[in-house]
Amino acid sequence: MSWNRIAVALVIALLCAGTASAQGIPGSPAYVAGRLGWDAIREGRHQDAAAAFAKAVDAEPRDPSLHLGAGLAAFLLGQPTAARQSLERALTMAPALTQASLLLGDILYRGSDIAGALQVYEAALPYAPDDKTLATRVERLRRESAVHDAFFASRGAHFTVLFEGPADEGLAARAVDILEAAYWRVATALAIYPEDQITVVLYTQEQFRDITRSPQWAAAAYDGRIRIPVRGTAADSGELERVLVHEFTHALVQSVAPRGVPTWLHEGLAVAFEPDGEAWAAAQLAVTPDRLPLSRLTGSFAPLSATEARLAYAQSAGLVRAMLDRGGPLAVGALLQDVARGDPLQAAFERQYLMSFDAFVDGLAQ
Ligand SMILES: [Zn+2]
Repeated sequence: MSWNRIAVALVIALLCAGTASAQGIPGSPAYVAGRLGWDAIREGRHQDAAAAFAKAVDAEPRDPSLHLGAGLAAFLLGQPTAARQSLERALTMAPALTQASLLLGDILYRGSDIAGALQVYEAALPYAPDDKTLATRVERLRRESAVHDAFFASRGAHFTVLFEGPADEGLAARAVDILEAAYWRVATALAIYPEDQITVVLYTQEQFRDITRSPQWAAAAYDGRIRIPVRGTAADSGELERVLVHEFTHALVQSVAPRGVPTWLHEGLAVAFEPDGEAWAAAQLAVTPDRLPLSRLTGSFAPLSATEARLAYAQSAGLVRAMLDRGGPLAVGALLQDVARGDPLQAAFERQYLMSFDAFVDGLAQ
């Protein structure tokens, strides 16, 4: 459930920084393009932002704030490799540009490079000893790498699964197999292929709560890496697959569209790709005529009661199922890409489905 915590906080921090970092000579082509770029970021038009920053960097390649903007736009477009390059350039010119360090560290962390992320944060610390976000990240990553240093790793083509001891080697190997199969099934269906490796960590219940600060009931978490509390429980195979596929789908959606995807679409896809997700959702919807309004499914499900939350997941899966039936999985993948570029959901839906989103939802209600 916490898949979006870090990303959202980070983006907000960067937006504030962006407002302050329009530098250069007012009226110059680079300055004008840079301003357009930050405006586009604020308005969620990520593709426009990328174009504006490319133009600005062309006109003034020595302004680190423009490389920061280009890096942020690339990140929001789901292009971590391009984002890393721009941010490294910004930091070579201006090692004290804390926002660039925060974003670069976050991207490295998501790409399974925890040592690289820690190195970036630690290099930034002397320039901003009072920056609370930076200090928290350094502290958190040091704690996490202390736990993970003792862990073993099992690697697949697209995943690294970390686990604590030889006793879990079989479990980790099974997790890798499940994830690689899910990769081909889900990524191919949506035509979304993440550039980076995804890290999955198998914890005991205690370690899980300690690292994620998740509530007791959380089944798993995604916050840049997939965290699953399976050690110490007799994890039955079906439940392991369900949780892994669900969290991997979040990771996949997040990799293509870090911002702007409503919760119902995120959770609906995650449930729809679970092995028995659709049957579960249909059964939930069959036992009650109650439905939550769509507005309650757009933001976080955290404030919902347990009964409402079950309904919210089931309705989300139902909406996504209807989208998959109507346009196939490729249309949903294309819609996610449109949202990543900065289209509002309604506009992206209309482009992919040739009907208005409201009409689609009304049709389902009847
Ligand atoms: Zn979820």
